Amino acid sequence: MPHDADANFHPETLAIMAGYDPASASGAAKPPVYLTSTFVYESASQARDIHEAYFLGTGPMAGQPNYIYSRLSHPNLAMLETRLAAIDGAERAAVFASGMAAHSAIALAYVRPGDSVLMSRPIYGGTEGLYNGLMPQFGTHTVPIVDGCDGAHIRAQAELALGKGPLALIVIETPANPTAALTDIALVVAIADEIGVRTGKRPLVACDNTFLAPFAQRPVELGVDLTMTSLTKYCGGHSDLLSGGISGRADVIAPLLQLRTTLGSHCDPFTCWLVLRSLESVAVRSQRAMSNAVAVATFLRDHPKVAGITFLGFLADGTPQRAVYDRQCQGAGSTFSLHLHGGQAEAFALLDSLRLVKQAVSLGGSETLACHSATTTHYSVPAHVRAAGGITDGTIRLSVGMEHPDDLIADFAQALEHV
Ligand SMILES: *Cc1c(COP(=O)(O)O)cnc(C)c1O
Repeated sequence: MPHDADANFHPETLAIMAGYDPASASGAAKPPVYLTSTFVYESASQARDIHEAYFLGTGPMAGQPNYIYSRLSHPNLAMLETRLAAIDGAERAAVFASGMAAHSAIALAYVRPGDSVLMSRPIYGGTEGLYNGLMPQFGTHTVPIVDGCDGAHIRAQAELALGKGPLALIVIETPANPTAALTDIALVVAIADEIGVRTGKRPLVACDNTFLAPFAQRPVELGVDLTMTSLTKYCGGHSDLLSGGISGRADVIAPLLQLRTTLGSHCDPFTCWLVLRSLESVAVRSQRAMSNAVAVATFLRDHPKVAGITFLGFLADGTPQRAVYDRQCQGAGSTFSLHLHGGQAEAFALLDSLRLVKQAVSLGGSETLACHSATTTHYSVPAHVRAAGGITDGTIRLSVGMEHPDDLIADFAQALEHV
């Protein structure tokens, strides 16, 4: 596939053209879906050259798009990886069957028995399970960062981690779900550099960028090694697929591609085609969802039945979090929490009275979704841990979509009358 991403174009432009050349497919303006499991060689010697290029990176076929078998790579995957890397401002990307397949590849490729991992908290439940459930079975240690804007705290936790074993990886998710707590990305990268100078082993920094997505936060530009995005959410954007991507330097992506071949966790051709298409509109979709979110959050904040809103856009001036937000975010996203006066009964009354907004987990789709955190996304989290994370029995998480904002506000207004 052509790698025609011109570094001078803006990410919005690259999102529409990078990774696909119509000349490669009879001039078709849009790419075909390459529904094939295997690729035919022109000759035995070409087959040998392709395998040499794949395994050793040498020989006459090196550096060309060489396809062998679709679990290794296929044209739709290559198009999507080129486009995602271009949008993220990275050299290379790897795309997986889901966001968790991507997270799992990072953990299995970069954390060895005895290593420690520093991880921001709270974090997506699947990521929590990966580093505190699965990985410790292989003898790894996970140490939490609970205030990602406090350098003294992060350094102290890094010491704790180094005391348990070599620090291989720092995993951050910012903003965090559902508290909207921020981690200072540039600060974490600087601390990773310090540790590298001091110990001779610099931990990799991986940032989960799912909540804001590439048009509201750009971790590669802040020095992160691995930017992970669940493409299921804003990038896919229509609640109709699962996929996950990782962007970074070619040398840090290469081991993930090898591991993906072993695990068989590549993204299939049709899903790649759907994500490639969705990426064309993610900039405008993000913009619309974010402006809707400000309108809905403002309405809810001022409503007498609402106790509070946890929304990045409302961070108080003069706080450390606000300063980090202003430095590293270009928008507040469209996923936030609403806290009602009262508890489960009031929350259920609101949810069951909504006519337009649907009840479902997940986020980043074109439609607005709502769910009761304590009994859905945080069902298995003990009540005192939920409370520490700012989740009450009256907390509802919203993912605001792209409907007309007046219709959304009218729906919340009528539903709040039933509370
Ligand atoms: C959904 C999500 C994931 C996992 O992605 P899947 O595509 O569902 O596997 C990881 N991190 C965050 C922040 C998410 O919201």
